[in-house]
Amino acid sequence: MLESIMKNKILVTGGAGYIGTHTCIALHEAGYEIVVYDNLSNSSREAINRVSALISQPIEFIEGDIRDAESLKQVFATHQFFGVIHFAGLKAVGESVAKPLLYYNNNVSGTITLLEVMTEYDVKNLVFSSSATVYGDPETLPIDENSKRSCTNPYGQSKLTVEHILEDLAVSDDSWNLIPLRYFNPVGAHPSGQIGEDPNDIPNNLMPYISQVAVGKLAKLNIFGNDYPTTDGTGVRDFIHVTDLAQGHVAALNYLEQQVAPVGFLPINLGTGKGTSVLELVTAFSNVSGQSIPYQFAERRAGDIASCYASADKAKNLLEWQAKLSITEMCQDSWRWQSMNPNGYNVKDI
Ligand code: NAD
Ligand code: UDP
Repeated sequence: MLESIMKNKILVTGGAGYIGTHTCIALHEAGYEIVVYDNLSNSSREAINRVSALISQPIEFIEGDIRDAESLKQVFATHQFFGVIHFAGLKAVGESVAKPLLYYNNNVSGTITLLEVMTEYDVKNLVFSSSATVYGDPETLPIDENSKRSCTNPYGQSKLTVEHILEDLAVSDDSWNLIPLRYFNPVGAHPSGQIGEDPNDIPNNLMPYISQVAVGKLAKLNIFGNDYPTTDGTGVRDFIHVTDLAQGHVAALNYLEQQVAPVGFLPINLGTGKGTSVLELVTAFSNVSGQSIPYQFAERRAGDIASCYASADKAKNLLEWQAKLSITEMCQDSWRWQSMNPNGYNVKDI
């Protein structure tokens, strides 16, 4: 009995955020018991309330910071976790350039504190939110997990540094199972339209920006660069539906449950394997929403690369996971979320 409880209970740090909320639903549907730990620095209780409504039961939510060891210890002392899915982190590249210490403190020190507490309570299964940003400007496409890693901004460095820490940890103690999932470009929303991405300010990322132009909150999209060596000159990315991404986390946990020997450090890409250009995404969104998306070409954005898409073979072979949803479905669900919630959750701290 105890064994089955332990195998099913997962701590989800950052579970109130964009990817975390979708993953909580997928975990619940897959039969996992979840405890969400989040400091609400970039999310709201409303997001948790909506997840609870979608799964028809209250989520166990603890407001806390991953840098607070005492608070984390209390959580580990009262629950026996099979493992941790670690989403908690700050993610804005521009802000990380302006506030590098905040990013290293939150993303790196916070993860070290979490790993120390996990060590103390002998919880050795971790799925970590890494990013395709760790590959920098790739030498070859599609990008597989053995590609060279390099980063140019503090956000990317914080992800890469955590990966290095996890690698060292796996070498030091072979009882760890550490899976950094390297996400490509998560977009879309839950098909209910109840949860989705809720940027605090003017969005930095393409899909929320397009959505806000479509709904009339922003006047015009700036397309950063039309002279890249791509089919239409605009940047190419591997957009992946957030619910597919959420299923990738379930697949990673299922994989860990099946292992008889520890896996050590096991990085895995989560992408579709297909590249879509900025202009192609704009056209698809416009078709789906029936809205025109005014745009103008602007200078390339500093630090951007021309093309980036995943080799998704490792996830398919090891995790038996594959992204299923199309660009059209990504646009449909983003549009449903945006049009049903023009101001997002609109409740940041209730
Ligand atoms: P998000 O900001 O919506 O979610 C992150 C959550 O972590 C938020 O709810 C925030 O309140 C919480 N958090 C931040 N710092 C915390 C701390 N110190 N203690 C406790 N909670 C804290 O972001 P997201 O898009 O859901 O991303 C989740 C993870 O995936 C992040 O680590 C991010 O860097 C990574 N990632 C995101 C993308 C993307 O495009 N969205 C791509 C690659 C990787
Ligand atoms: N992009 C754009 N206008 C915007 C935001 C993004 O043209 O307002 C482009 C960006 O230059 C890149 C692609 O859209 O080619 C994806 O950018 P995003 O910030 O969403 O993700 P990234 O791949 O940079 O992490």
